[in-house]
Amino acid sequence: METARLHTATHLLNSALRKVLGDEVSQRGSNITPERLRFDFSFHRKVTPEELREVEKIVNEAIDKQIEISMKEMKLNEAYALNAVGVFTNKYEETVKVYSIPGYSVEICGGPHAGNTGELGLFKIVKEEASSAGVRRIKAVLKEGKHE
Ligand SMILES: [Zn+2]
Repeated sequence: METARLHTATHLLNSALRKVLGDEVSQRGSNITPERLRFDFSFHRKVTPEELREVEKIVNEAIDKQIEISMKEMKLNEAYALNAVGVFTNKYEETVKVYSIPGYSVEICGGPHAGNTGELGLFKIVKEEASSAGVRRIKAVLKEGKHE
């Protein structure tokens, strides 16, 4: 399912942005259609083309590694203890689903997700722009075929 693959790519993107830009990055929103993902995050300036290329590279490396994705249900406080990221709002019930992509991402999320990062194809950022003050927006797609 295309949206599940894009959803999993969103987790890898969140993780890669934090690796490249630091902990200032935190998710403000995300939206997925069958064609693309959109990810809004806190950051104080424009992301440079070099940084975007580095983010793409990290995501595509994770895809190339064909990592199994696991899901575990747990209490919200246990998820906090694992340093899981997620948009923490009171819409979360006390028991949450935590999706893990070992080495990359531990995130509270409702899913659905791909079973393995190898299903994702080639990750490509198509746009980076301001969303609102202090919030950037990235649009990205998954293409068929292998990363070079
Ligand atoms: Zn998710």
